[in-house]
Formats: sequence, C-alpha cells, structure tokens
Amino acid sequence: MSVPLLYIAAYARSGSTLLGELLARRLGGVHVGEVRHLAERALLPGRRCSCGAEVVRCPFWSRALAEAGLGGAELAELRALARALRRPAAKYLLSAAALEAALTPSRRLLLVRLYRGLARAAEGRLLVDGSKQPAYAWALARSGAARVHLVHLLRDPRAVAYAVRHRRKPLPQGGRMASAPLLETAVKWRLLQGAILRLGPALASYHRQSYEALCRDPEAALARLRFLARGGAAGASHLFSGNPDFLAPQGGVEIRFREPWRAGMGWWEAQAVRLLAGRVR
Ligand SMILES: [Zn+2]
Repeated sequence: MSVPLLYIAAYARSGSTLLGELLARRLGGVHVGEVRHLAERALLPGRRCSCGAEVVRCPFWSRALAEAGLGGAELAELRALARALRRPAAKYLLSAAALEAALTPSRRLLLVRLYRGLARAAEGRLLVDGSKQPAYAWALARSGAARVHLVHLLRDPRAVAYAVRHRRKPLPQGGRMASAPLLETAVKWRLLQGAILRLGPALASYHRQSYEALCRDPEAALARLRFLARGGAAGASHLFSGNPDFLAPQGGVEIRFREPWRAGMGWWEAQAVRLLAGRVR
C-alpha cells in the first residue's frame, strides 16, 4: 500500500525548508527534507542530521534504512535514478519516454521499499518530503511508493533569481550554495513551474501556496493542509540537506521576510526576469 506523503514542489531558494519545518511541526509530521538526494548526500562520512546525530547514527534514518533494507547496490541504483531525473527532458517533464526510461522496474521497487521504511520509522506520522523536483514526485506517484499530496510553493521569480545570483549561503559540509546568472534562473524557473503543473493527474491532491502569503499569514497556509494531520503527535525534523539556517539542531522556525532584490536588482534586470519567467496560471 502506498504511503501518504506531503510533498513540497518548488524552485530552489523558494522557502521550501521553512515551509516543511512549519508543516511538520504544526501537523505532527516528520520533515525528512530532500529525500531524492539521500543516496548522493546523506550517507557521506560525517554528514549530520538536523536532530544533531550523524545521519548514519540518527535514530530515524538508521531505522528507515534498515527497514527498507538498502545496501550499497540499492543505493547505487537510487543515485542512478537521481541522475536520470536531472536530465532536462525528465526534469522538466518534457518527455514521457525519458521519464519511463529513468524509472526502471527495479528502481520502482526500491522507491516502494524506501518509502515503506520511512513510514515505519515515522511511526504513523505524516511524512513531509521537501525534494522540490516535480520529476521525483512523478516517480513516487508512478511507482506506487507514495500517494503524493503536493504543495506547489511559488516565490516571486525576481526574489529567487536574486537569491541564486547573490546570496550564496555557506553549506555545513563546506563550500557555498550554487550561483547562476539572473536570466538563466528565470528561464529554468518557468520550465520548472510548467513541469509542476503537468503533474496534475498523478497527484492525490494539489495545493498552491505563495511564499509571500506564507510569510504574511502562516496560519492560513496551515489551515488548508490540516486535513492531512494525523492525531496529536509532536512534529520532528530529520534533515540532511536544505537551507543551512534550518540544519542546526533544535533550531527555531523564524519567518524573516526580506526582499533584498528590490534594492539590489536594476529595473531592467527585474523586468527581464519577470518577462522570461512569465506568469503561472
Ligand atoms: Zn535525525
């Protein structure tokens, strides 16, 4: 039986880690962050979980991996799936053939095992997956690993493009977040929103949420998703990647709404980003 899952789909730097933390805490869920990077990032030596433990020793992740029975060969297959879903034809849901080729029968079974393991480790609490990528949400739904309730998180593309270009936060494992030119981000932002909208028929439910509205009125955002809350369990956070602000153990969820792009971006740049990104209908 497929696992109920709250999945956040968004472009990078759109506030998905913040939303995942809020949802997990208030709906009594477990925020598991960017699970699609599990095999590539989580098990690197010394990688820490937001609960404070090393990921391999974290009670949640060690139980989930043991329940799923994932060893070296299975993790290599999951890495291959992640790479295949990053190719543009699959990533932007432009080719059904590319998607089907990425999701081989053995990889489908691995996703089913992984999400069953996650559900067992969550002990009945709602899983909140911040993997962001629509192609991975498609793979979860198509494989039968999860019933995907999707939150489409939309942030002003000018704010996103500015953050990607100029605000490269340091990462806990060293280095900084990736940067890209403003107009490149605008085009990719548009492609990704189109891909999220094409997911429709694969989803158990679809909810659109603006980042700016979330910051103004988080209670309204939570109220719309309360139907997914399960009992009165306390929320938990087990992140191994995402916004570094939330990766510290026992970090609070503080909403700090800032728009540095308004002062930092030129008028022509802002117009060009808006035009290229277009409107999401
Ligand atoms: Zn943990």
